[in-house]
Amino acid sequence: MKVVIIGGVAGGATAAARIRRLDERADIVVFERSGYVSYANCGLPYYIGGVIGDPEALTLQTPESFFSRFRVDMRVRHEVTSIHPDRKTVRVRNLDTGESFEEGYDKLILSPGARPTQPRLPGVGLGKVFTLRTVEDTFRIKEHIGAHHPKSAVLAGGGFIGLELAENLRQLGMAVTIVQRPRQLMNPFDPDMAAFIHNEVRRHGIKLTLGRTVEGFEERGGGVDILLKDERPLHADMVVLAIGVTPDTALARDAGLKLGLKGSIVVNDRMETSVPDIYAVGDAVQVKHYVTGGDAVISLAGPANKQGRIIADNICGGDSRYAGSQGSSVIKVFDMTAAVTGINEAHGRKAGLDVDTVILSPMSHAGYYPGGRLMTMKVVFERETFRLLGAQIIGFEGVDKRIDVLASAIHGGMTAIELKDLDLAYAPPYSSAKDPVNMAGFMVENIAKGLVKQFHVEDVEKIPRDKSVTLLDVRTAEEYAKGHVEGFYNIPVDELRDRLKELEPGKRVYLICQSGLRSYIAARILEENGYEACHLAGGFRFYDAVMNDRGLIDSAAPCGMDQG
Ligand code: FAD
Repeated sequence: MKVVIIGGVAGGATAAARIRRLDERADIVVFERSGYVSYANCGLPYYIGGVIGDPEALTLQTPESFFSRFRVDMRVRHEVTSIHPDRKTVRVRNLDTGESFEEGYDKLILSPGARPTQPRLPGVGLGKVFTLRTVEDTFRIKEHIGAHHPKSAVLAGGGFIGLELAENLRQLGMAVTIVQRPRQLMNPFDPDMAAFIHNEVRRHGIKLTLGRTVEGFEERGGGVDILLKDERPLHADMVVLAIGVTPDTALARDAGLKLGLKGSIVVNDRMETSVPDIYAVGDAVQVKHYVTGGDAVISLAGPANKQGRIIADNICGGDSRYAGSQGSSVIKVFDMTAAVTGINEAHGRKAGLDVDTVILSPMSHAGYYPGGRLMTMKVVFERETFRLLGAQIIGFEGVDKRIDVLASAIHGGMTAIELKDLDLAYAPPYSSAKDPVNMAGFMVENIAKGLVKQFHVEDVEKIPRDKSVTLLDVRTAEEYAKGHVEGFYNIPVDELRDRLKELEPGKRVYLICQSGLRSYIAARILEENGYEACHLAGGFRFYDAVMNDRGLIDSAAPCGMDQG
């Protein structure tokens, strides 16, 4: 059996190695357009920033090491220029010699990845306007910085790659601005959670120019003008375009393969394309979203590696199936970690789901053990069924661990209530006896049992201030004095039982505390005393972070009030 693979990095290299492990006799040829195989795309921004010092650390394997271990013929600087399914061949150009030849296959795997999205704007090709995808792109940026010592950079786009690059360039001492049309960075996060990311990057001196449309680039004064719609241009010594990625599927299209979203290759759960004996993997393919069941394009390394393994199994006579992607991802944002899995609240609404959320601010580990830090966790679930749909966490230590637990829970089809039952490891340096994930489950169970009702940050401005309801802040007088929501009156939770007579009977009470814990306790006291109470999800801490990032909330979508 002869297997030809187009693209020798995440999906392609994984498939090649697994095919060899399953079949000692297969003839495996990989064509890779760049000069490197199996390189660490995810490490590239950190090489630019100097966190990874040794360029060799970026290349996990070389064609030689791959050959000696797996007997795979890895041909770098070879570009496949066309696919001919009728005669089961691909046409290949050797980029060093210019020679072109045809190579036959029994099975063909497409792992061409995705290209940085290049808008058709004037100046996109300028020498100081970069993109980042390959090792070569990385060296180009690094060499430019070494030779010209740019003092400022504009990142057009604030997704994963833009944000990682922004941090790394900032750490090189450059003045960094992120500009983009969306009003929030990192769209896997809801706008309220993104506020924590915005606050962190601003705290490190990165300027955010959000909600602006870039219209082109012009060289000026040794740097680049970034032209904006209806605004004065920005100016920087260099620009990196990172507005997203587009599946690199021109070859597949020309060969008549069925394409889907964003021009991605349509595959079934065995990763087979619409054309017999051609498989596809990774950033180039359309997947089923594990949570919504809808079509999705999810460009991440984990799915690419798993899919490569599945293809190898199927080519070698097995029957492996890809269950779908749920977009679990994590990113370092200076001192913080931001992680997400499943769908967020906004995506849930767009998918037509009736979603609700809990927001909590637990400590990363037991409060009495030194070094614990707060994290902000938002768990999204379906209101009727309590099906767990997604989670977002932003904090310091322990964020990655909690998101992976939540990702596993989603994969296992658990409800958000069942999070309370997970038997998770605990010792004071690592967690609390009630782990944050358990805490989220307790909170959802309380909602399910009608023990607590919530309102959300976007509801705060809509609460009547006409004395028809009671607005109560149950933090200490000191906390209240430092900042509170206009119209809320202060009775600390520990004084509440003794001061109930200050609250008019028959009026619904809206409660706020710092994180949502004391307001929950207050709500229980009030409910037990005949009042109807609801409390602010996430508390003043969450409200304050979002308000500091004002203008981002989609006030058109109130939620939670109907539970109140
Ligand atoms: P790739 O790994 O991109 O490989 C595709 C290869 O195919 C390329 O090397 C390309 O040169 C080659 N190719 C394309 N067309 C041809 C052709 N016609 N002939 C020959 N060769 C061809 N994901 C995460 O999960 N976490 C991260 O932290 C993360 N960070 C990232 C940081 C950066 C800077 C980048 C660029 C990506 C990052 N990713 C991250 C995404 C992750 O790298 C991709 O999802 C993953 O590599 C996709 O695997 P793939 O095999 O589909 O494509």
